[in-house]
Formats: sequence, structure tokens, C-alpha cells
Amino acid sequence: MFILPDLSYEFDALEPSIDAVTMEIHYSKHHQGYVDKLNTALKGHPDLLKKDVTELLRNLEDLPADIQTAVKNNGGGHANHSLFWTVISPDGGGAPKGNLSEALETRFKSLDDFKAEFETVALSHFGSGWVWLVVDNDGDLQVYSTANQDSPLIEDETPILTLDVWEHAYYLQYQNRRADYIKAFWKIVDWAEVARRFKETS
Ligand code: MN
Repeated sequence: MFILPDLSYEFDALEPSIDAVTMEIHYSKHHQGYVDKLNTALKGHPDLLKKDVTELLRNLEDLPADIQTAVKNNGGGHANHSLFWTVISPDGGGAPKGNLSEALETRFKSLDDFKAEFETVALSHFGSGWVWLVVDNDGDLQVYSTANQDSPLIEDETPILTLDVWEHAYYLQYQNRRADYIKAFWKIVDWAEVARRFKETS
């Protein structure tokens, strides 16, 4: 069975960027819902219930056809939120260091140019979805968004930073002001964790 991963901080720890009520509902209702539906979808597949969710998504086409959509949606929801909680932190903000900093500058010219591109993608994404910084199959950094709960893992790319742009992620606090939510996100990005994930891909 899949379970909700522990958060390493309290619901109110990310304030004022993300308020406690938003965090509590997002984690204990929305994320829990994806976990529950993933378990339901995999009922009768004990071998698959033992696997890591990232492994299921990377090998989606090998799964029985009748559960692929449910795993894509709910396994994606579980994996995406699990990543999101780890790349934001009460101790976040600032700027990346070391190899990640150099790689971002090489790819996007500067940290500010990277942030500008990420924000443009986040603001222009229509409807529910996620914005990603991934390491692609050539080892290059890419920024893009996906719809719904689609994960870059399905394309066998490795996400190292993400922002949830579903309305449930910000509407209680920011209403329609997605731009303000995105600006506040930079204040809680855990660059050390993003750098650790980047290093793992090399
Ligand atoms: Mn969400």
C-alpha cells in the first residue's frame, strides 16, 4: 500500500508564502486522496503495490492497460506532491550554490532569467497542472509545464523542482492571484534539496 509521506515541517511553517489552512487541506485531503485512489486502482495487483511510485510512472506502458490512466492520474498526484513538499522549506529561499548554480547559468544565462522563464510558464499554463525544472534524457535542464497530474517521469525525465499550479494549491490564500503565489514560492524553495536531486542525475 502507498502511504502519505511525512512532512518535515508543520502546516504553518511556510507562512506567509503558503498559509497553514492551505497546507493542511492540500496535504491531508488532496494528496491523501491521490494516495487512496492509487491504492484502490492497484487493488488486486499486490506486486505493483510494493513498487515505488516513480518506478510505476517510468514504466507506465508496461502496466495492465485498464489501470494505466488511474496510475497516471493518481500515481502522478502522489509522486508530484511528494516531490513538491520536499523542494519547499521554512529554511528555503535565496539562491542555489555549486554545480546547480553553474548549470542554471549555463542553460538560462542567470538565476533571474531562469526564474523569469519558470514564472512565464507558470503564469501562462492554462488550467490545472504543474511547472517543472527537469533534467532531460540528454542531461540538460528544461523548464515546462504539464497538465493535470502528468509527471515528467512518464517521459523518463527527472524532475528536480516543481510548483503546483492547481487552484487547490493557492486559491484559499491568493484567490485568482497566481502571480503572487509564484513570487512567494521563490521565498521557500529549498535549493539545497534541488541541488541534491540535480547531483543524483549526474
Ligand atoms: Mn496539489
